[in-house]
Amino acid sequence: MSACIENIEAFQIEDSRKRPALRVVVRAGGGEGSFDVPSGASTGSREARELRDPDGGLTKAMRCITEEIAPALFGRDAEKQRLIDETLLALDGTPLKERMGGNSLIGVSVAVARAAASARGVPLSTHLRELADIPRSRHAPHLFVNLINGGKHAEGGSSIQEHQIVTLDEDPRVAFATAERVERALHELLTEEGRPFTMGDEGGVVFPVTDASTAFEVLFRAVQKAGAEKEVVLGSDMAASSFFGNGTYTLCGSSYDTAQLSEQYHQLIQRYPLTFIEDPFDENDVPAFAAFQAAHPGVVVIGDDLTTTTASAITEAGTKGAIQAVIIKPNQVGTLSETLAAMQAARVEGVHCIMSHRSGETMDAFIADMAYAYGTLGLKAGAPSARERAVKYQRLIELYGNH
Ligand code: PEP
Ligand code: MG
Repeated sequence: MSACIENIEAFQIEDSRKRPALRVVVRAGGGEGSFDVPSGASTGSREARELRDPDGGLTKAMRCITEEIAPALFGRDAEKQRLIDETLLALDGTPLKERMGGNSLIGVSVAVARAAASARGVPLSTHLRELADIPRSRHAPHLFVNLINGGKHAEGGSSIQEHQIVTLDEDPRVAFATAERVERALHELLTEEGRPFTMGDEGGVVFPVTDASTAFEVLFRAVQKAGAEKEVVLGSDMAASSFFGNGTYTLCGSSYDTAQLSEQYHQLIQRYPLTFIEDPFDENDVPAFAAFQAAHPGVVVIGDDLTTTTASAITEAGTKGAIQAVIIKPNQVGTLSETLAAMQAARVEGVHCIMSHRSGETMDAFIADMAYAYGTLGLKAGAPSARERAVKYQRLIELYGNH
């Protein structure tokens, strides 16, 4: 049986930042699949480039899909994901997908996978598992829930990009209810203390801070207020490349070298149950990651800008002991096959995978299907009260409910 590609269409929709986003719809073998492509703001320098018009629109990307990609894929078998993705890569022909854009390529690539699953009449997770054999980390993922935004995702907040709670319950429904409870407690706490706040890109709160610990202190007090100390630990995406320049980290108004920044993190770990730390150092400093991970074996150091969902970078970071987990963002690399290769490379190194949204999101919940299909360590999808984020957690709950 095969599922011949019959039609590929591209549309412009809006993402959570009200910026243009790409929707790709593929019909194959009587089935149909689509993908609404998200977009990052705090991007790694080695991630796939987006193709956008000078005004941010997607006319060029849509033309690329309908005039170049579609004719090359018509009649091809959507079940042969790897061949489809190899064709996409050959058509683009550049290492960082500058010509056609990672947004065009991932849009088509994921929509093809969904169309194939639909044509076969199997759940997407079944189809995904047949595409790649990736050892599970957990029965159900921890939810990495970013409740206080900063860095490039917020104006007027901490230099630290994400202050997260990480749920511990194995049941996503219980875990999500806990996250909602802590989020409500946080909003109440800030209101009670007369601390004005705005909302950041990922639906977390934003307020001014004078040092790196303030936002963790507030978050931890919200956890206590919700009575959730045993149900969550804390996590963070430092996104340190965004506050690094000329050999110096400028964090919440103070300047640090690598050793001093490590000491700042060390103090946070002593004070709070901070167990997961993403991108603690600049994306080019693998040795700093490795030294910090070795000195803090109880903390899970996570690569994102460091590894950009790229198999070779993950293998290098894993081999050098720089990380225990890695962020997986399909649009960061540009095709589903490369995403699966990155996840396989991680598991070979004993590195766990965390499926992640982007700061500019759509209502698409593909990452939840990925997290479920491969039993990833985590699903990172922002604050519960933001609809583009909640839809990912809800999808996960639905998948585990049917299981
Ligand atoms: C991140 O850095 O992990 C993130 C989700 O942000 P962005 O999508 O802006 O890269
Ligand atoms: Mg990150």
